Amino acid sequence: MIDLVKELKDIKSVGISGHIRPDGDCVGSTMAVYLYIRKNMPEIDAHIYLESPPPVFECIKDIDKVEDPKAGKDIVFDAFIMIDTVKDRSGDAEALYDKAKKRINIDHHITNPGTDSDVNFIVPTASSAAELVYECFDEKLMDTEIAKAVYIGMVHDTGVFQYSNVSPKTLNYAAKLIGYGFDFSTIIAETFYEKTYLQSQILGRVLSESILVMDGKVSVGHIDQKMAKFYNSHPFDYDGIVNALKQIKGVDVAIFMHELPDHKYKVSLRSTDRIDVSEVCAYFGGGGHKKAAGVVMEGNFYDVVNNLTARIEKQYAERTDQRI
Ligand code: 5GP
Ligand code: MN
Repeated sequence: MIDLVKELKDIKSVGISGHIRPDGDCVGSTMAVYLYIRKNMPEIDAHIYLESPPPVFECIKDIDKVEDPKAGKDIVFDAFIMIDTVKDRSGDAEALYDKAKKRINIDHHITNPGTDSDVNFIVPTASSAAELVYECFDEKLMDTEIAKAVYIGMVHDTGVFQYSNVSPKTLNYAAKLIGYGFDFSTIIAETFYEKTYLQSQILGRVLSESILVMDGKVSVGHIDQKMAKFYNSHPFDYDGIVNALKQIKGVDVAIFMHELPDHKYKVSLRSTDRIDVSEVCAYFGGGGHKKAAGVVMEGNFYDVVNNLTARIEKQYAERTDQRI
């Protein structure tokens, strides 16, 4: 556990960032740290860098202060806090992190080796980076807006406190957070469940065109560049699609992929506890958690599916209970 106030003692400038294509945990946890520093250490010149946060997070105070990492390229920060990721997945923020005098890494990914930083707070059993960020705070120094940002991070990485990464500690923290008094019900409805009409149409299309492979144990849905152009959609429009593919009865692993330029696919995997998708993704250079992981892979749709299913097959083959 680290105490953020102590870690930033005598620090004059701090940069904060997270991973590319930031999700709710990434936006919530980085914004919470930014707000906490602004409130309690106003003498520090604090900057938050993220690739454009999804519009649903407009409810977070000061989200308009988020800067493009390219804007900070000439700054050498006294400290840089990287949250919810290894530096390799932080896009243009990586260069800022590398140059900083003190590098702090707060993360909950099992695939993070903890070799990037001067100060590590990496706990793979934590439900979310937000849960760890909360542990770096002094409760007395928090306010409603900070609590709300932390809560959003926890909600998003736990699927509204449903996934098995939820521990008694997670719920205990959530209980304390809602005590700060924000409209948690509306936050969950509007940032987690609500979809635009376009997002709903895309979800419907991906599900109707999805395929089942490996005797129905693996579902695959995808969006190619042509489809993305047709809908004029962005990656944040695809949030939740992989979960819908995972809800199909009999499915152990859901694969959702969307095409990037240069013959690459961004792949998201979700699984039951029968398959460790972080192992599958790490094999191809990605990472994540046992039941939720991701990777960018080269090749066409069939190459990607074949490569992934080969690794999944291998895990089934290695299972000792033979319940295949
Ligand atoms: P998602 O599928 O929602 O993008 O990500 C699921 C989990 O895997 C998240 O915890 C995310 O941080 C991690 N993840 C997703 N894509 C990548 C990737 O390309 N590389 C690594 N290292 N982790 C990823
Ligand atoms: Mn996370």
